[in-house]
Order: sequence, then C-alpha cells, then structure tokens
Amino acid sequence: MRTMKAAVFVGPGKIVLEEKPVPKVGFGDALIRVTTTTICGTDVHILKGEYPVAPGLTIGHEPVGVIEELGPGVTGYEIGQRVVAGAITPCGQCHTCLDGHTSQCGGKPIGGWRFGNTIDGCQAEYVLVPNAMANMEPVPEGLTDEQVLMCPDIMSTGFSGAESGNIRIGDTVAIFAQGPIGLCATAGAKLKGATKIIAVDGIPERLAMSRRLGADEIINFNQADPITEIMRLTDGKGVDVAIEALGTQRTFESCLRVLKPGGVLSSLGVYSGKLTLPVDAFAAGLGDHKIVTTLCPGGKERMRRLMNVVASGRADLKPLVTHRFRLDQIEEAYDLFANQRDGVLKVAITP
Ligand SMILES: [Zn+2]
Ligand SMILES: [Zn+2]
Repeated sequence: MRTMKAAVFVGPGKIVLEEKPVPKVGFGDALIRVTTTTICGTDVHILKGEYPVAPGLTIGHEPVGVIEELGPGVTGYEIGQRVVAGAITPCGQCHTCLDGHTSQCGGKPIGGWRFGNTIDGCQAEYVLVPNAMANMEPVPEGLTDEQVLMCPDIMSTGFSGAESGNIRIGDTVAIFAQGPIGLCATAGAKLKGATKIIAVDGIPERLAMSRRLGADEIINFNQADPITEIMRLTDGKGVDVAIEALGTQRTFESCLRVLKPGGVLSSLGVYSGKLTLPVDAFAAGLGDHKIVTTLCPGGKERMRRLMNVVASGRADLKPLVTHRFRLDQIEEAYDLFANQRDGVLKVAITP
C-alpha cells in the first residue's frame, strides 16, 4: 500500500503530520499530487475545536497540483497537467448547483465545502478531487503556484464579497477587517469599480497591504472610531456597500451603522454564538437595507475566471504569501499562522 504524509486533525488543539494511504481513485474522481497549498483561518477554527470535523480527517482546502491519476469517466484532462481545484467542490449536477448556488451543493447549508470538512483535504502529498470534471481547472501557462494559490479560497471568497454586494462603478465601500479575506475583498471592490474604498483593521501591516491592493482610506480602529471616521469621510451619508470580513457582532454591527439607506451589507465572516441586529441602525426594518451572505464560490469556471484575473495582472495577490514552509514543517506553520506572528498573512506549504 502506498502511503503519503498528511496533516490530520486528531482533536482540539492537535493537528499532526501522519502517514496515511494514498487515496484510491473512484468513478469521476481525480488524484492530484499537491505541489503547493496553504492554511486558512477556517483551519485554525478546526484546530481550536471551534468548528467540528471528524478526528482522523486530513485538513486543508486550497490545492494547487499536478494530475497523478484520473478515475473512470473523467475526460478532457491529462496526467501531468497542472491544475487548481476550488475549496468548494460542487457536483455541478444537483438541483441546488443547477439553481446557481454551487456552494450549497446538495441543498444543505455549506454542502459544497467538502475538502478538509467532510472528505480528506489537501494539506497532504496527494488529494482526491471529487466530481473532477466540475472542479479541476488547468493553470494557464506562465503562472506560478504562488500566483494562483489564492484562487481556491480567499480570492474567490473576498471577490465574492464585492460581487454579492453588487458594487457599482463610482461606489463608496467600507471593508471591516483586512485579514486575507478582507484584503481580497478590497482588491475585488477596486476591480468592481468602487472609487472610494475605506479599509478598517487594527494591524498596521495589514492596513499597509490594503493600500497596496486598492484602499483609498485606511482606518486603524485602535486610533480612531471607524464609524465616526467613515461617516466623516462620506459627509454623513454612509457607504453604498459595507463588507464584513471577520464574523463578529462588532464588525457586523459597524457595517450596519455606516450603511446608507438602500445600501448593501455583504457578509463574508463566519459567526458563532448569536448575532443580533440593532434596530436603530437598521431603521426599524424600513431602510431598504439588504444583507447578503456568500460562501466561497467554487467549481472550475470560477477558477478559470480568477486565474484570468491573475494572468491579466489586474490584481496581484502574490504579496499575501508572506511565509513558506515544507509540509513536514506544517505544525510550525500552524503555530505561526494561528498566533498571527511575524506579520503573517498567508503561508505557502510545499509537500
Ligand atoms: Zn478557507
Ligand atoms: Zn451539487
């Protein structure tokens, strides 16, 4: 039996590198030899026991790699081809997918998120891609692994915050939190044509990066009250679109408090516990506000579009990769990433 190294969730506080069998390829599947992957904030929630997954599961949902084996029924690809698969792997055939909600594949909330959630993920030497023909997209010639490493999740998620918010040319947009997802939302807002982008965070390095990716104004919440500042910057009018990129009551509520009547609150964060809605900021329910939520869009067509953005140079997210580790150093990488040490934004992991 062939074995491989894989980062496995053992229990809260414990993700360790273990030897596991290389997955067997079934109908419609493909086996990818992972060449680069990364760690997501969601993986840290799993590590801390805040998001439950089965012990023994391989973690990770952001694969870049090379096709090692194709299962029966998979056509249109070649062994050795460089590919990306999204963090979300829809089947592309169920009612929910065909209804345009591929992230909710199967009609269950978050049903499209399988890697490192309901099936083995990609922080490993190999990963099995289900419904490979719906999910694998060849990497265009000339793009490096690190250039496309953000496509499977944070670029797709961050951009979707701007897309779901229906940002129009000339809009003013506020983005709360400038972690990797918020930074990608900033880049997405710029691509969508926002002409005043206000980014909020408490870490100077992150605010500096958000300027680089398109923010026109930055607010450090340790130095100024973001709500007062945003209302001042918009002459008391509020913003057209507020993007929530953290998943806390405070950031959600702040988004609502800076939103103009008729504006859109586009929520990307993962909330826990209870989320309450202050009626004063919500105009008692009569302000024509819209609240939209989005889970990272996946599937090969999404990956194709995102890689087009990278290839065209319209957005350069490679600077988000601040640290590099080998797969056998992954426990060290988790420690750095989970504790946000050393200005870390994203880590590249190479098996
Ligand atoms: Zn993720
Ligand atoms: Zn589906």
